[in-house]
Amino acid sequence: MFDYLIVGAGFAGSVLAERLATRSNKKILIIDKRNHIGGNAYDHYNEEGVMVHKYGPHIFHTNSKEVFEYLSNFTDWRPYEHWVLASVDGQHVPIPINLDTINKLYGTNMTSFEVDAFFESQAEEVPVIRTSEDVVVSKVGRELYEKFFRNYTRKQWGLDPSELDKSVTSRVPTRTNRDRRYFTDTYQAMPLHGYTKMFEKMLDHPNIKIMLNTDYHDIINVIPFKEMIFTGPVDEYFDFKFGKLPYRSLEFKHETLNKEWHLEAPVVNYPNEHLYTRITEFKALTGQQHPKTSIVYEFPRAEGDPYYPIPKPENAELYNKYKKLADETPNVHFVGRLATYKYYNMDQVVAQALTVYKKLTEKEKEEKGTAKPAKPAITGSATLMEKLLPRDPDKKKA
Ligand code: FAD
Ligand code: UDP
Repeated sequence: MFDYLIVGAGFAGSVLAERLATRSNKKILIIDKRNHIGGNAYDHYNEEGVMVHKYGPHIFHTNSKEVFEYLSNFTDWRPYEHWVLASVDGQHVPIPINLDTINKLYGTNMTSFEVDAFFESQAEEVPVIRTSEDVVVSKVGRELYEKFFRNYTRKQWGLDPSELDKSVTSRVPTRTNRDRRYFTDTYQAMPLHGYTKMFEKMLDHPNIKIMLNTDYHDIINVIPFKEMIFTGPVDEYFDFKFGKLPYRSLEFKHETLNKEWHLEAPVVNYPNEHLYTRITEFKALTGQQHPKTSIVYEFPRAEGDPYYPIPKPENAELYNKYKKLADETPNVHFVGRLATYKYYNMDQVVAQALTVYKKLTEKEKEEKGTAKPAKPAITGSATLMEKLLPRDPDKKKA
């Protein structure tokens, strides 16, 4: 009898397997329908010996010391600060839009102050920022919105930015300085020997059994377990009872080229040309030295493996119906990007899994009657997850 059946060996499932096995001495069976662990963060050496990310570029970044320190138990790191160029008007310019972007694009020589005034002169007044269009036009105006955001977003999501929640384009800031970094988090690094090696180390414990190429439907009635942790799509778990939750998919086209380098930057975004959104050159992320180079193109798709929950109000409403059902389902815990229908980065999923682990141990202590009396809430304290979620600038402080 296993204490836990964990469905999905990505970040959500693997963090929980590791904590429950090493800290709570639980017996775990972790399964995945794919033929590998690591979920969407899986990486491997391709036929030519270049390390690639099978499901598109994964760059680790976080502001959470706790998450970084936790993962550091399983890997050393290669410091790496990501940067991206966008192909706009026949030039490659920095994205996030910064001072250099504007000067290169318009052939100007503005200062930070001047570019700030320029943005202000272009910005549209938007009384309440609700959508992904509002976010951008209210900061930099319509022209830059159309050059950098409108078409990329339409391609990526199959929706106009005006139909998408503001959180989507809010992921990409606007700057008036020359900082070209894609992220500004405190910790930015790549696992030195790759994500898969890190996952192997997390799951290397006598209490953890791994079963690959296994859909949970095939074993659910055969293998005995006490509790389940589910990290697949939540609507699938409930047989699409309320209808399908929309997820956006991608098709990855991997190529290895017989030259040392191909791109001018680790990633080039294509807001306006081509059917793909971006090209990534893996050696730039991993630091590997190799005479050949491997790249991946991302083609957005409506059908296929679910990769992105689609943040828009109707979908949040539909998800809430599933969430209610999930909350009422005894002994099953829903964790991760697909199971909680959240556009989470890796660090947010790790934080969510660590939070669920704490809740599970508290619940067990309560059931055994060994729980300490609850501490009074500390004013101003925030959970690990709250700390990692983007701040809502419209939310007034209580
Ligand atoms: P997943 O990794 O999706 O794992 C879920 C697992 O469950 C899968 O392996 C799946 O096969 C398995 N499963 C599903 N259904 C079943 C079933 N019925 N039976 C058995 N197994 C099942 N985050 C970053 O922080 N930085 C990045 O640069 C970044 N880049 C990304 C690029 C792309 C193209 C994508 C799609 C995502 C990116 N992310 C990035 C997000 C990151 O991939 C996720 O936050 C993280 O991998 C989610 O982990 P998870 O465990 O919730 O889900
Ligand atoms: N985006 C855009 N143009 C860009 C980069 C991003 O329009 O050059 C928008 C697009 O809607 C995208 C979102 O911003 O989906 C978030 O970008 P991010 O790079 O964070 O996407 P991810 O890496 O999660 O695919």
